[in-house]
Amino acid sequence: MEAMTQISPNKIKFEEKYGPFINGEMVEPANGYIDAINAATGKVLSKIGRGGQEDIERAVNAARAAFPGWSNTSVEQRYELLNKIADVLEANQERLKMIECLDTGRSLHEFDLDYKLAIFQFRFFASTILSYYEGASRPIDNGYLITKKEPLGVCGMIIPWNVPMIMAAGKLAPALAAGNTVVLKPAEDACLSIMEFSKLLADILPKGVVNIVPGYGTEAGQALIDHPNVDKLTFTGSVGVGKLVGKAAGEKIVPVTLELGGKSAHIVFPDVEIDNAVENATLGYTFFNGESCVLGSRLFVHEDIYDEFIEKLITRARQVKIGPPTDRSTRLASVISEKQGKRILGYFEIAKNEGAKILYGGNRVTVPGHEHGYFIEPTIIEAEPHMRIFQEEIFGPAVTVTKWKDVHEVIEMANGVEYGLAAGIMTNDLQKAMDTANKLEAGSVWINSYFNFQLGAPFGGYKKSGVGREQSKETLDSYSQSKTITVAYNLPEPGMFL
Ligand code: NAP
Ligand code: MG
Repeated sequence: MEAMTQISPNKIKFEEKYGPFINGEMVEPANGYIDAINAATGKVLSKIGRGGQEDIERAVNAARAAFPGWSNTSVEQRYELLNKIADVLEANQERLKMIECLDTGRSLHEFDLDYKLAIFQFRFFASTILSYYEGASRPIDNGYLITKKEPLGVCGMIIPWNVPMIMAAGKLAPALAAGNTVVLKPAEDACLSIMEFSKLLADILPKGVVNIVPGYGTEAGQALIDHPNVDKLTFTGSVGVGKLVGKAAGEKIVPVTLELGGKSAHIVFPDVEIDNAVENATLGYTFFNGESCVLGSRLFVHEDIYDEFIEKLITRARQVKIGPPTDRSTRLASVISEKQGKRILGYFEIAKNEGAKILYGGNRVTVPGHEHGYFIEPTIIEAEPHMRIFQEEIFGPAVTVTKWKDVHEVIEMANGVEYGLAAGIMTNDLQKAMDTANKLEAGSVWINSYFNFQLGAPFGGYKKSGVGREQSKETLDSYSQSKTITVAYNLPEPGMFL
């Protein structure tokens, strides 16, 4: 997909600073500001508020005060306002894409997909809410019964840095459609697009319906999950922090949605057309710089084609263009931060130490003018199931390859990790494909086209990859609660019960 009009990175004007967005406006944070930096160059782009307990308190109060009004809006009103949000996102997308590109270090061309998905979330939930309240009403003895859906109240949301607008839209759209108000904590490493988006929201939504508090997870994030006056928690990020969010929800007895990590298997059967399969596998482990929870990060190749497949996989890896994020022809750019870059390179050391073989890559690459950034080669590692490199999420452009012979064995290996977010299968044999798909423990299974992400389809994880499903009609249930009202036509006659 081509961009409509690409905006030059030099033309992007940031605000000097972005305080928390509370009750319809940006306010001064209680604890000062943090630098927001360009992931690839290290240049300071702007400053974001270092949100803390006081800011969260104000934000939750604003969301609470806005709840009676927002929860009583008609579905037609919500439909119109959510579509309006989609419209402004669409109209401002080229600028926001460039902002996310600078902030995250990911390649610009990928943000076409991010914004397509984000805009769609608002349109999808705007439409879906219209038919959501079909309501169950039935006659009972001497009366009738109604089951109705009501919003939960104030939703606390925490998102990661890899795909900021997809994440924000995927949580905001269903929550708002169902009549909730929100406090959102974006990731400190990449939240400038979200803060810019808040300025657009200010013109559309009533004050306090959406509040956004940037800052560190251990400060703003922790204050949000611990806040006693929050009625739902939803989190996307690592398993470690996911457990904290789950515990906090348990303390409050409020519902929780968790979208956590992944270590997705991609299984290649021997009947495939090898060149096409190599292309699909390469896309599967390099998209989004490898910083994707659904990365096809464990490749299983049948022994009959293993040698030829691996040779071609290495040749293809050599051709992946590493370059500046803002160049639309770049396919791999800078990972989010030095910390993340070092973590990824550290995993390659772990791999070597545990006897895995790096078949290609494994190094940081310098891109002129972007020396700050961690540009990492596409990396192919031959590994066995017991190894950490096979079991743990790297969150970088790396894939393990493992040979297989028997289909039961490969399914067991594929399922032999604690995650269960996504999986891929490549074969021309429909029966094998469906049989394997049914046996894989994963929330999304892509046959013959990895990351074939379809809008409106349920998305979420099996096992430690999470709890709940986002992006689909059933998501509205996780932002609503049911109330049953029974109506008797008359009061009981005296003496009826006693
Ligand atoms: P992370 O460390 O868990 O951080 C995610 C968010 O939680 C950030 O906003 C972070 O704030 C915040 N946070 C950190 N500590 C917190 C605490 N004690 N209390 C409340 N909030 C806290 O994850 P990450 O490293 O940024 O992101 C990578 C992980 O996210 C990977 O495991 C990946 O698989 C997962 N992910 C999952 C999905 C999915 O849909 N399943 C999608 C994308 C990513 P700060 O970072 O600002 O400090
Ligand atoms: Mg940044």
